[in-house]
Amino acid sequence: MRPDTFVARLARVRQAMVGAGVDALLLSLGADLPWLTGYTAMPLERLTMLVVPAAEGARSEQVPVLFVPELEAPRVAQVPGAFALAPWGETDNPVAMVADLVRVITGDAPRLAISDRAWATFLLQLKASLPGARWTVASAVTAPLRAVKDESEVAALAAASAAADRVAARLLGGEIALVGRTERQVSAELSRLLLAEGNERVNFAIVASGPNAASPHHEASDRVIAAGEAVVCDFGGALDGYCSDITRTVFTGDPPAELRHIYEVVAQAQAAGVDAAEVGVPCHRVDEAARKVITDAGYGQYFIHRTGHGIGLEEHEDPYMVSGNGAPIAVGHAFSVEPGIYMAGRWGVRIEDIVVVTSSGPLNLNQADRGLTVLSV
Ligand code: ZN
Ligand code: ZN
Ligand code: ZN
Repeated sequence: MRPDTFVARLARVRQAMVGAGVDALLLSLGADLPWLTGYTAMPLERLTMLVVPAAEGARSEQVPVLFVPELEAPRVAQVPGAFALAPWGETDNPVAMVADLVRVITGDAPRLAISDRAWATFLLQLKASLPGARWTVASAVTAPLRAVKDESEVAALAAASAAADRVAARLLGGEIALVGRTERQVSAELSRLLLAEGNERVNFAIVASGPNAASPHHEASDRVIAAGEAVVCDFGGALDGYCSDITRTVFTGDPPAELRHIYEVVAQAQAAGVDAAEVGVPCHRVDEAARKVITDAGYGQYFIHRTGHGIGLEEHEDPYMVSGNGAPIAVGHAFSVEPGIYMAGRWGVRIEDIVVVTSSGPLNLNQADRGLTVLSV
């Protein structure tokens, strides 16, 4: 990401803070900080916190300040024009340093927004130090902005999805042995392939076989995969910070007629969800479009989760494709479309792609084959 990208994002965030009546933004753990600065805080007992005043200007109290433990300061890449770096030493009190700065920039009764993922231990100390403050979550300001991906973010998501597609292609091509291996072994292989494709981390590699496929977030287990089963493989990593997330369900032998039918229903529901993702329509329409196909086929009670989630620096972020979310879909929104049918004790099927919305409609970032795949491995 270029330095001026961070500077421009900071400016937009500060505008949104003014609109929301937030005097200062306090960012610690979570994706808001790297989105705005390129720096990711370590989840440690030592406090990392960026203090962003709403008021912009050149005066020292108008410059965002990043407090970091001195021993981590060498990891911070300076971004000219974005923030000042304030390393704190082992015997300093970083909470008092943050509270002092907040008092200087906002006065006695500020309205503060803090990272959704900040640790309670720091929030409680800050609340005690700033008794007049009113608090809200940072996502109230940042989530709608982060949901709209810029060109460089769309490119990063596309590259991450393409890497996941190449792993999926190996699965669909029968290059990854399934029958006779445990779910855990297959999960480890999917993870290894994601790393070989350049991902800096693997976020998850769900392998759910036979009756386990009826559990959407099944943890890969020591169950040995048998012939004649549905195997749900849902995996993703992060490439240059941006996440991938794809699900393909494959069959270790010809599926019985009902399971074959279920697969076709889920595939149609997935396509209907993608087609519904037009600019301006409310997010819940994507959920309704996918759900209608499954409900009409008589399996509505077995589709037990929302249709999709936004994706970016986080695997799950705004916007959510869920009943009740009336927020309109906008150009730059990126999210999963992942309907499924889960019949406890029997089997399950899910198909998932990442979609980004463009001015000419929804664009599938995943291209791996969605046709019913029967493997003899
Ligand atoms: Zn999930
Ligand atoms: Zn997934
Ligand atoms: Zn997903």
